[in-house]
Amino acid sequence: MPAHRPKSSTGSQAYPPAVDRLIASLSRLPGIGARSAERLAFHLLKSEEQDVLGLAAAIADLKKSVRHCSVCYNLTEQDPCPICAGPRRDHERILVVEQPKDLIALEQTGMFQGIYHVLMGRISPLDGVGPEDLTVAALLARLDDPTRNQGVKVREVILGLNPTLEGDGTALFLAEKLLARGVQVTRLARGLPTGWQLEYANRAVLADAIQGRQAMS
Ligand SMILES: [Zn+2]
Repeated sequence: MPAHRPKSSTGSQAYPPAVDRLIASLSRLPGIGARSAERLAFHLLKSEEQDVLGLAAAIADLKKSVRHCSVCYNLTEQDPCPICAGPRRDHERILVVEQPKDLIALEQTGMFQGIYHVLMGRISPLDGVGPEDLTVAALLARLDDPTRNQGVKVREVILGLNPTLEGDGTALFLAEKLLARGVQVTRLARGLPTGWQLEYANRAVLADAIQGRQAMS
């Protein structure tokens, strides 16, 4: 720790430029204010060089090697992702989620043998997010053209959106499109109170939600 610590890093001349740059970058991360950014920067300064270089390499690899699966939009280092490419997965069932972190939470239950589709958000008219801003077209294309679904015709789509107003609205929008295509449409059972986020639910609740899924038509 330096002898003098200015109250704020912003506009301070007290730190070498490299430290100021790091503090500025860190403070742009969600949930990290100027004080936390400063604390992290000094933690890194004190850390072993190999640890800091390891962190830097992990961040660089994130952008170089991680992308979205071209089938389901899950985050992956290989395309299609290991779930889409998995020979033991049930390709007739697609579980639709909002974000990759929802997929991970559901996958950790070990209850679902099918495959997924990540919408990359939910329909939110107030925020100007419409179906065309999500991966809705890619989901429907998987139903319309089995070659986009590892050659398997989809029989059931399970809607695993968060139980929020926008999640419910998105589920209704999708259900209409999906039912028109003659597939079975179900949604996760309501073990979660309205407004809850799927990613924070425990495994037992999610496993129950998958097993107790209900038809939407
Ligand atoms: Zn995939």
